[in-house]
Amino acid sequence: ALQVPDKAVESVCPYCGVGCQLTYHVKDNRILYVEGRDGPANHERLCVKGRYGFDYAHHPHRLTRPLIRRADAPKRGDAVMDPDRVMEVFREATWDEALDLVGERLRTIRDTHGKRALAGFGSAKGSNEEAYLFQKLVRTGFGSNNVDHCTRLCHASSVAALLEGIGSGAVSNPVMDVGKAEVVIVIGANPTVNHPVAASWIKNAVKNGTKLIVADPRRSDLARLAHRFLQFKPDTDVAMLNAMMHVIVHEGLVDEDFIAGRTIGYDELRRNVEGYSPESMAPICGIDADTLREVARLYATSKGSMILWGMGVSQHVHGTDNARCLIALALMTGQIGRPGTGLHPLRGQNNVQGASDAGLIPMMYPDYQRVDNAAARQKFEQLWGMPLDPQPGLTVVEVMHAIRAGTVRGMYIMGENPAMSDPDANHAREALAALDHLVVQDIFLTETAYLADVILPASAFPEKTGTFTNTDRLVQMGRQALDPPGDARQDLWIIQQIAARMGLDWHYRDVSEVFDEMRHSMPSIGGITWERLQAEHAVTYPCLAEGDAGDPVVFTTTFPTETGRARFVPADIIPANERPDGEYPRVLITGRQLEHWHTGSMTRRASVLDAIEPDPVALVHPLDLEEIGVRPGDVITLESRRGEVSLYARAEEGTPRGAVFVPFCYYEAAINKLTNAALDPFGKIPEFKYCAVRIRAG
Ligand code: SF4
Repeated sequence: ALQVPDKAVESVCPYCGVGCQLTYHVKDNRILYVEGRDGPANHERLCVKGRYGFDYAHHPHRLTRPLIRRADAPKRGDAVMDPDRVMEVFREATWDEALDLVGERLRTIRDTHGKRALAGFGSAKGSNEEAYLFQKLVRTGFGSNNVDHCTRLCHASSVAALLEGIGSGAVSNPVMDVGKAEVVIVIGANPTVNHPVAASWIKNAVKNGTKLIVADPRRSDLARLAHRFLQFKPDTDVAMLNAMMHVIVHEGLVDEDFIAGRTIGYDELRRNVEGYSPESMAPICGIDADTLREVARLYATSKGSMILWGMGVSQHVHGTDNARCLIALALMTGQIGRPGTGLHPLRGQNNVQGASDAGLIPMMYPDYQRVDNAAARQKFEQLWGMPLDPQPGLTVVEVMHAIRAGTVRGMYIMGENPAMSDPDANHAREALAALDHLVVQDIFLTETAYLADVILPASAFPEKTGTFTNTDRLVQMGRQALDPPGDARQDLWIIQQIAARMGLDWHYRDVSEVFDEMRHSMPSIGGITWERLQAEHAVTYPCLAEGDAGDPVVFTTTFPTETGRARFVPADIIPANERPDGEYPRVLITGRQLEHWHTGSMTRRASVLDAIEPDPVALVHPLDLEEIGVRPGDVITLESRRGEVSLYARAEEGTPRGAVFVPFCYYEAAINKLTNAALDPFGKIPEFKYCAVRIRAG
């Protein structure tokens, strides 16, 4: 019979950073269907994930009781989740028993081995309020700054370059500004797959006359619409971008007034790009000199040029250098600070911007106030009522090294899945298994939860209320549509229960009180009240005082640096950490696909999405498949120096010869077992976009 919803709840999409507003139509505590709302980022549009990816919340695999590892169940680093055999490894417990055990173990580690022996990973899928309380718990209850989240794995290098260059890690202009730009460069990003509604605005802009330049080692769907598609060789971003800057300098296309009035360090940059002529860089990056010249001229001379980038730029050992080049391009041509210009690193998860803003990072308090800055530390010591550790904490990958070294011994992980998402995943799993105590808070028995001592059943996205900040700096209201199943509890409640057991005396009556504390410690959102969010659903920051409209376009007159000026930072070519050789002759590039999200824990349990893409695949150029001696659909095995996985071969002409692209969402072919944990020295981001592998049939 036709089901009629009994309520409609206005919220936002739980997946990507575009931040589409949507309505959940609910009957009897089940979502029947989802519709797009007229939000600033989507104007009623939704992609396949937002529209059909909701029934994971009702999946029978949902965790509904706290679980404690049985005394006789060994932890195995290579364990693969088997939901039907959970009770052989864990036993059910009451909340009090589970929370008391967590508190007792974490306190013992802290008191025996010191405050820095504990660490926490928060989540970019949680709300701003959850992120804020989580980092506050780690800094005040655990007593160190060892708190991080998945921004370390996606845009940490972009943020490092942006903070250094222009004083702010957030975007300068919203995605919608592509409609006002004459030229749009999309580099190292595949928005049709990863930010589909944003891609639809780019496609609309092209239809209305915007010239699109797509630059990527893989030919994406968006490249079909490009005025020029630059299929540069993997790992050669700096060579290509420095050559474009060389052209701009040599042809006098720089904006001298902008450089003189609003920047520092230009002479050093100019001297540096001198050695990067298009002719000398063409053989390195694979783009001919004429095309490099044409694209450089187009970008520099248009009335408005905008750059959007993704993890193809950021996930390299030279990710910060790649982003430095993009920033320098915008600064030398004055293509920033006006509508239809600027720099936009496309954010991955729906709240990676907000979680970073809220201080879920080891070197910064909320609003990027540095932990090693005495004045900032004093401010938060006063607000939180206790002394704080002045030493920046460890990042995601550094924590794994510290566990192996025995210096980190206890962890609290909320809604992250490092056993799947960390590079060199076998080592990451071994590290997690070696902890004295691991508590994982999640909605499913993830590969990480399988290694835990205690698992706390949490709430799915539609089961809680909170704020989320999208890639455009829009703070938006997500509202509760469902009750959590069984004994599962809201994340904000769980964090506070652990805080109480770590000796903290917190009293938040509801989520709005957490938001209120945040806005009083974060100048950028100081003017946003809970009541305004309730009424308007979304407010852009910076919003310094109540009543401010919020600024979608920033840096119009000054940059938020000490001098008010932006800084050029030159970059030179640094090769990937692990190059192909005779033994491992191909390049592995990892990423995502349209239907699945990150480690797949939600989308692979969303029936429509899983039906479309049910099996692990590797995308290989058809001629390479011939060379290997397999046909599309055959099983192939990929090996690196760190591990091997088997999966199905799929022919894709857009993948460059000699490379293979694999999504990281499939637990049965966890591709991060192969990736390289080498880090960018500034952003500490791992090199997910380049390592050496070999492929064999079968
Ligand atoms: Fe959700 Fe992103 Fe798709 Fe919008 S584009 S519906 S935010 S996944």
